[in-house]
Amino acid sequence: MNSEWNIRACADQCMRCQRKFADKENLMSRLCFAPEGYLREDFCGGCWPERATPTAAAEVSAWAAVWHAPAPKAPEPLKKETAESLLRELMETDDPAKRNVIFILAVMLERRRILVEKEVQTPEGSGTKIRVYEHKQTGESFVVPDPQLRLSEIEHVQREVMELLGIAAPSS
Ligand SMILES: [Zn+2]
Repeated sequence: MNSEWNIRACADQCMRCQRKFADKENLMSRLCFAPEGYLREDFCGGCWPERATPTAAAEVSAWAAVWHAPAPKAPEPLKKETAESLLRELMETDDPAKRNVIFILAVMLERRRILVEKEVQTPEGSGTKIRVYEHKQTGESFVVPDPQLRLSEIEHVQREVMELLGIAAPSS
């Protein structure tokens, strides 16, 4: 079973013609809402107009992107938990109890301009508002359902996030 949130990396080749993207090549990406979950598809500029179009409801989001060849991996320094590493960890779990924390972390990263909101959608038949963010550096898409927290709930969730990040809440 798929969790309701997803991180989708950019493919390294065109979905249609299978050509590998060149560094700094402009491409087009889309997210589709399929019964098995969100699918991300990346196309070269030539293939984009020729892509098979799913129903309008299924194509959740489409945007232009630039392919960046991955940098050689540097050895990971020992680092403490950051909002981004915590978000990635939590998005790999299937724990519905974490959805509020995941949403608040995504909002924090958007404020820090690490994530950019691309789209807000309510896929047909789901009733849940979802937000699609793009990671500015890596081009990954983050699909995060919006739990539509009330103001009174936000403070509680923010406290939980601070605890998870090991930041002491102001005492007073
Ligand atoms: Zn192509």
